[in-house]
Amino acid sequence: MSIAQNISEIRNEIKPYGSKLIAVSKTHPAEAVREAFECGQVDFGENKVQEVQDKKPLLPSEIHWHLIGHLQSNKVKYIAPYVHLIHSVDSLRLLEEINKEGKKNNRIISCLLQVHIAQEETKFGADANDIRTWLADRALDAFQHVTIKGLMGMASFTSDEKIVRQEFRQLKNLFDESAKNYQANNTQWEEVCMGMSADYKLALDEGSTMIRIGSAIFGNRTYQT
Ligand SMILES: *Cc1c(COP(=O)(O)O)cnc(C)c1O
Repeated sequence: MSIAQNISEIRNEIKPYGSKLIAVSKTHPAEAVREAFECGQVDFGENKVQEVQDKKPLLPSEIHWHLIGHLQSNKVKYIAPYVHLIHSVDSLRLLEEINKEGKKNNRIISCLLQVHIAQEETKFGADANDIRTWLADRALDAFQHVTIKGLMGMASFTSDEKIVRQEFRQLKNLFDESAKNYQANNTQWEEVCMGMSADYKLALDEGSTMIRIGSAIFGNRTYQT
């Protein structure tokens, strides 16, 4: 199947849910991104700052670049001038840095708080209780150059649908709770970003508003060592 066919199939599947599609292009060349862009796909996700920095100049400026991978504070400055949405805010220190760079660039940078919902230790994200504490302490109020658009999470890597579904449900519940209890002029609670190639159908079922799909669009990744 071609990139165009894959995108069209996924679009049809998500249409009834009104969810947005982020095409995850990490490890794939700029030509693959262009092919997807030519099918009308505008939102692309990359997990490394260096990779998006390399690809961006080769591609149309209309593309919305999403940073979906773990982000180090010292790299925020590179993407701050253009990044569309940072999905991986997992500490107040990182948010503070994004805010600082937003101010320098005279921008308000959209962010998702990444929540650790998986059982695996290896997946990044803040604990749900940390997020509850930030909100209860109103620790985000000070950051006027960011907008908190919602939450992002990655489920466990398992074929046990019950576990995956339960983790997605947890994220959706935390989103509802946050939206209800914490309103500020830098919050717009709109997105529950969950679901990847292997589990997006479950995620949509559990209320995902934004899915991040890589291999189901571009094929398997080959990592250079
Ligand atoms: C790579 C990646 C994806 C996409 O994974 P696929 O299984 O290829 O769809 C989604 N989210 C994050 C954070 C990723 O790093």
